[in-house]
Amino acid sequence: MQVNKKKRRTLYECAHARVGTGRIYCNQKYPLSQASLDGSLDVHRLEEGKQLAPKVCQQCDDFDCMGPPVPEEERGWLNMKEVKEHGSTDRQALREAVA
Ligand code: SF4
Repeated sequence: MQVNKKKRRTLYECAHARVGTGRIYCNQKYPLSQASLDGSLDVHRLEEGKQLAPKVCQQCDDFDCMGPPVPEEERGWLNMKEVKEHGSTDRQALREAVA
């Protein structure tokens, strides 16, 4: 039986997805999560290579595609040295943070 995988937009693809101060957020101020007051996500989700496909992104008019999603096997890292390097103080595009 073939599983039909629906393609979902991810934060790895949008130029407005940013990483900074230990959080992932949208530069256009859309809330990526209802679970936090400011709508941001914990950067651990990026470190763990999660899918990062918030509901708000799926129909977003401001989606700014940077190219195909980062391949799943290249997402995430567990090495704490890299976490520091990719880190929490630079505000950079999420896609660049995992590159
Ligand atoms: S798709 Fe929209 S909500 Fe998602 S990161 Fe991009 S601009 Fe923000």
